Amino acid sequence: MSKIGAHVSIAGGLEKSIERGEALGCEAIQIFSKNQLQWRSAPLSQARGERFYRSWAASSIEEIVVHASYLINLAATDATGPKSIAALEDEIERCDLLGIDDLVLHPGSSRGRSAEPALDLVAERLASILDRTSHKRVRILLETMAGQGDLLGRDFKQFRRILDTLDWPSRVGICMDTCHMFAAGFDMRTEAAYQRLLDQVDDTVGLDRVGCWHFNDSFHDMGRGLDRHAHIGEGTLGFAPFSFILNDPLWEHTPCILETPQNASGHAGNMAILRKLRGG
Ligand SMILES: [Zn+2]
Ligand SMILES: [Zn+2]
Repeated sequence: MSKIGAHVSIAGGLEKSIERGEALGCEAIQIFSKNQLQWRSAPLSQARGERFYRSWAASSIEEIVVHASYLINLAATDATGPKSIAALEDEIERCDLLGIDDLVLHPGSSRGRSAEPALDLVAERLASILDRTSHKRVRILLETMAGQGDLLGRDFKQFRRILDTLDWPSRVGICMDTCHMFAAGFDMRTEAAYQRLLDQVDDTVGLDRVGCWHFNDSFHDMGRGLDRHAHIGEGTLGFAPFSFILNDPLWEHTPCILETPQNASGHAGNMAILRKLRGG
């Protein structure tokens, strides 16, 4: 059975996220490992990392993934570039200390330049980061994006270009966000459309590269390039795609993480829906 859960807050301390996840009945959670809107944060000590890992081991949470800071842009050609490299290495270090293997990263923004050189710069920087952290097992999951503005990651050919340049390292995978893919023009509302999407993923990056799903319904229609998450079943995607994914043995060990709005019944309501769609 796929592992369902939600993005939960670390307010009050990293361990609090585990309590929050358990209260929601999550089998998997996603967290930020620090304030995601600040470049700098106090370093994580070995002792704190161990305390977190012990709390996790004693909990019912099976998988934890970290979402990297929104500030990181590996495609930036200004001072943000070097800052992003340092910040991503810090994120990898933090994951390593917390015993977390998967780190979700937005591929970046080309900021007015064409996509190809921006993708090549991302790959070049990723290569050096992977090289410098080669003693760590943390895997970077590049997230599919909605195609808004100059954001990279709107189609699988872009991910393939990065992977080709990197020579397909085992420490780079993909995180598939349902809302973002739908906004970027990928349908998944019927069984046939869902299978076509999987075929496309398999033909370009390989289904075994997918390490995480982000479960979000979409406020806007397909192909609009607009990224606004909606509660499951209340957007333009509807229940069907989530049912296909949850009942597909392919994703048996893959975390399916809600990033839906916190209003109304919030994560609790969406978790109840996912359990129903999965049949338990
Ligand atoms: Zn994201
Ligand atoms: Zn997402």
